[in-house]
Amino acid sequence: MSDPIADLRAAIGDPALMLETPEETGAYTTDWTKKFNGATPMVLRPRTTADVSRMLAACNELGIKVVPQGGNTGVVGGSTPRGGEVVLSLSRLNTIADYDPASATVVVGAGVVLAAVHEFVAPLEMEFPVDLGARGQCQIGGMLATNAGGNRVLRYGLMREQVRGLEVVLADGTVISNLNRLRKDNSGLDLKQLFVGSEGILGVITQAVLQVRPCPPARRTAMLAMTDRAALPALLAEVRARLPGLSSLEVLPDDVCQYVSDQVPGASMPFTERFPIYALVEEETEAGAAGHDGFVERLSGLFESGLVADAVVAESEAQSAGLWHVREATGEAIVAAGYSHKFDITVPQGEIPEFLDEMEALAATLPGIKPLLFGHLGDGNVHANFVQTPEIADKPFLAEGPALAKAVYGATRARHGSVSAEHGIGTLKRDYLGYSKSPEEISLMRRFKGLLDPNGILNPGVMLD
Ligand code: FAD
Ligand code: ZN
Repeated sequence: MSDPIADLRAAIGDPALMLETPEETGAYTTDWTKKFNGATPMVLRPRTTADVSRMLAACNELGIKVVPQGGNTGVVGGSTPRGGEVVLSLSRLNTIADYDPASATVVVGAGVVLAAVHEFVAPLEMEFPVDLGARGQCQIGGMLATNAGGNRVLRYGLMREQVRGLEVVLADGTVISNLNRLRKDNSGLDLKQLFVGSEGILGVITQAVLQVRPCPPARRTAMLAMTDRAALPALLAEVRARLPGLSSLEVLPDDVCQYVSDQVPGASMPFTERFPIYALVEEETEAGAAGHDGFVERLSGLFESGLVADAVVAESEAQSAGLWHVREATGEAIVAAGYSHKFDITVPQGEIPEFLDEMEALAATLPGIKPLLFGHLGDGNVHANFVQTPEIADKPFLAEGPALAKAVYGATRARHGSVSAEHGIGTLKRDYLGYSKSPEEISLMRRFKGLLDPNGILNPGVMLD
């Protein structure tokens, strides 16, 4: 009988490009959340685009299914093997080069870690505006494949908006290379955007041309306290109008802040009094000297409008980091709690207060489950977490998952929202794609998949069943 893995080994030849023992492959089979894991007969570790092409061509020929993997920080179960697939790790495609000052673009291998891009451009006084908590581990290829967002989407957009050129290898090994640096290119269909956010089901990203930008002279941060969350949409409109350099607007209810303060050392709130809800605001301003860039004056108008009851303005980078720490420690605090059901929802910004009411009412029907609702107010992106408390055991808590998902996604659909704001669909949300996409759209997605990967070798079970 033929052994496809033996045939693949022979086709690839060089043992340095393959890992096969469980000790070697173990690190590639469990994701960051530890929720998704499986077994793999082989991890492929290409060094070049040509290696990726050869490997995919061989897998396609042999009918071997492949899971592309970047930094393995995706949270929707798309980057680890599920049914004995081969893992294709892009980590060695980690060259970052060719900074072009005229276009302010840089050519980056798919396996380059986000923090390395930040470090590469910093001495040039440039920055790559996408930033997220997984910066030390997530890779540009994985970030493009998931169209990652983060904290500054409001000003700079998601990964989709940062990419100028892309190189992709199709399932049959065909290399589609368009590493141009053009800001404007309407020569036919913008094919690269088909692969951004495609979660590895249409092709494997190997290189990208990324747009970078001059660092702003200063970034100012403030925490605003509010007495009424119904006023959040009005606050958003007001902050947007008053702060021309607005780069982040995050929302944190008091119970989330208390929870984070209790769980994570150093993540304490700067107010002596408690308020029902807080907004974290960041603006990119012209002058660096604190107090002389008009930031405080612009914020003071918010008091006059009655939207804000109190505010703390960071006067140094350390103070700013302290305010951000409360927001960024939410993930750690939730993990520390035990199990959680996580949802990454978008609803129209104006409907956020009602959506939060609905989520709290839903949680009130579930004994032992605590809702922690926060997110990127500016983008209408709510991270709705339903966390386990000591009052409920693991099994009944986990059993609530599917019913809870239906209720949360049902409420999202009713508001014409999205079941995935920035994390992707993966395997976790696959069965709920229909809550955000019509049958016609899903059918068209399947046709793209069939066209580009007729043998279905790329990331089977992700996004589409
Ligand atoms: P992986 O997890 O390895 O893969 C993700 C998906 O992309 C998988 O389906 C995989 O098959 C596919 N893939 C990977 N590489 C390629 C490639 N080269 N070609 C084709 N397909 C590929 N996400 C946000 O959007 N915003 C946030 O603010 C945010 N914060 C986070 C904070 C923490 C602490 C953590 C752990 C995660 C966070 N995430 C966030 C989620 C995650 O970091 C992003 O989704 C990230 O983009 C995934 O990159 P990765 O390299 O780890 O990809
Ligand atoms: Zn987020």
